[in-house]
Amino acid sequence: MTDVVRLEAVSKVYGKGQGAVAALREVSVAIPSGSFTAVMGPSGSGKSTFLHCAAGLDVPSSGSVRLGGTELSGLSENRLTELRRQRIGFVFQSFNLVGSLTVLENITLPLRLAGAKADRGWLEEVVRRVGLEGRTGHRPAQLSGGQQQRVAIARALVTRPEVVFGDEPTGALDTMTARDVLRLLREVVEGMGQTVVMVTHDPVAASYADTVLFLADGRIVDSMTAPTSDKVAERMTRLGAWTR
Ligand code: ADP
Repeated sequence: MTDVVRLEAVSKVYGKGQGAVAALREVSVAIPSGSFTAVMGPSGSGKSTFLHCAAGLDVPSSGSVRLGGTELSGLSENRLTELRRQRIGFVFQSFNLVGSLTVLENITLPLRLAGAKADRGWLEEVVRRVGLEGRTGHRPAQLSGGQQQRVAIARALVTRPEVVFGDEPTGALDTMTARDVLRLLREVVEGMGQTVVMVTHDPVAASYADTVLFLADGRIVDSMTAPTSDKVAERMTRLGAWTR
């Protein structure tokens, strides 16, 4: 298997001097193509920082981030923006859809921003996969939360990105709807060979992944393959995630 994303000794320090906070400490990890990875850890362990550095949304203080064959460090902000638009998909907790656009316009927005034309066949497949046939002319406000997140997932897939990053993608959904969205992400990995990396604090969400990475105090302290929600919850408890 080839690696889609590779971090080597990535550190991120916020601030300077006495107030400096090391959010990531020499994190090294390789994400294989076609895998589903969940990133878990207590609040403040560096999950968001990890996601932002891996996705080229933030620049590490040191270390190397590679997407496919591209080293991200040293790229200009313009090149990074272009890379994110063309080669990375994003799914956020809050959907981030444009309310004035239809479902179809929201899905194709990344293509329009990149000045690319939609491949009709691919677009139809993406819409079908996420189960939005018959809804493409609706506005986001006419959809349920789960349907809105399906639009966001379709939008993330439309450019055929090398990796889709999710930031608590089920955080705003009720339990049943969250499971539908997680099943969809699983299908996207298995049926389309998409690589997905998702930050979550929910052991059930993490159990849909192939591998769970556990962060604590800016380091990857453990990983788990074939996770179950019970095993993940137990590991999180040992990390002190749910005690104060
Ligand atoms: P998590 O997503 O696991 O809650 P974060 O990556 O948000 O963790 O944060 C990791 C650490 O870095 C925390 O101590 C947090 O306070 C700090 N941090 C995050 N972003 C900033 C920032 N922009 N400025 C200063 N400190 C930050």
